[in-house]
Amino acid sequence: MRLKLNGWDLGITFAAAHFIPGHHKCARLHGHVYAIHCEIEGEEGEDYMVMDFTEIKRFLRDIAETLDHHVLVPGGGGEAGVEIKDDYVHVTVGEKRYVFPAEDCAIIDVPTTSAEELAKFILRWLLKNVEFSENVKALSIGVDEGKGQGAWCVQKL
Ligand SMILES: [Zn+2]
Repeated sequence: MRLKLNGWDLGITFAAAHFIPGHHKCARLHGHVYAIHCEIEGEEGEDYMVMDFTEIKRFLRDIAETLDHHVLVPGGGGEAGVEIKDDYVHVTVGEKRYVFPAEDCAIIDVPTTSAEELAKFILRWLLKNVEFSENVKALSIGVDEGKGQGAWCVQKL
């Protein structure tokens, strides 16, 4: 049995700016509207449900809200050098240097802010914060960069 939560339909979306160091086009600062999707695979429990949607939706909304209207800064040891000084985030990528107010940034523990790495980050966040019952066998997270294109990752439990 598989539960599916579609971020576009549920309004679990966020708008954010990012850049992908080393990419011919996406290395320039730009933005997307993102949606977070989730699939939960498992057996029905005694209550005839795999899992209550409510809790998982709340966490996905929390994550979306945390990232919404922020600059996504890759703080996980990738190509970008990230330093916080006097309430400003200094980002260095090769010859480029960005300085953002710290309050405008979401520094994320990923090497780069690709949809793939954002999906993995959100999956790790959920696994850390949500208790899944034994009948849940796998959790998948999808992150769309605009409608129709995105990355999915799956973790067996
Ligand atoms: Zn992009």
